[in-house]
Amino acid sequence: MNIVILLGAPGSGKGTVAGKLAAENANLKHVSSGDLLRGAVAKGTPSGIEAKGFMEAGKLVPDALIAQMIKDVVAETTGDVTMLLDGFPRNLAQAKILEEMGAPVKSAVLIDVPDEIIQDRIAGRRTCPKCKAGYHVKNLPPKVEGICDVCGAELTIRKDDNPDTVKDRLVVYHGETEPLIKFYEDKGVLKTVVGTDPIDTVAKNFIAVM
Ligand code: AMP
Repeated sequence: MNIVILLGAPGSGKGTVAGKLAAENANLKHVSSGDLLRGAVAKGTPSGIEAKGFMEAGKLVPDALIAQMIKDVVAETTGDVTMLLDGFPRNLAQAKILEEMGAPVKSAVLIDVPDEIIQDRIAGRRTCPKCKAGYHVKNLPPKVEGICDVCGAELTIRKDDNPDTVKDRLVVYHGETEPLIKFYEDKGVLKTVVGTDPIDTVAKNFIAVM
């Protein structure tokens, strides 16, 4: 097993790209820290109860909480698999925790999208609460408005996708997550793809550099 980290602002397309690549390649596994956390919140587990307030405020949940979830997934992932790690690490402390886990990081791929485009992207984002498929009202609409193509569930808007919380999440991104770009650059594993191209192009470029 090895790991490819997805770097990029909220709304840069990390989940869409990783979801698409994992659906098309049997040896790629998409692991989203946000999905793990939203799952825990929905189930009402102790971790979910602890995480909920941070998430609704657009803040990072405590490092130890999310690190334990990632540790569990890393431990259960074996064989000829590349894990597309989406949303973790989110700060330097988490990057160090990941190193301590001993899981080999093959590359960290930045999906580069300017801030002015992010707000618009997130405003149109829709998610399937059941199978986690992602859509956008303009850029990636479902076949039937408001309904998931994959499983037929009614699409929802994430609670933390309201414009005020998005602003806070971007502040967190620039302050805490962006330093990871230099961190992985210094390690010689950073790659960058243009995130404003159509999704198929971004996915193709991503897999070519990862
Ligand atoms: P995402 O789906 O990646 O945008 O994550 C949604 C929210 O989950 C974030 O705004 C954070 O509150 C929380 N979260 C996800 N991943 C992490 C992480 N690695 N560290 C801390 N909080 C996280």
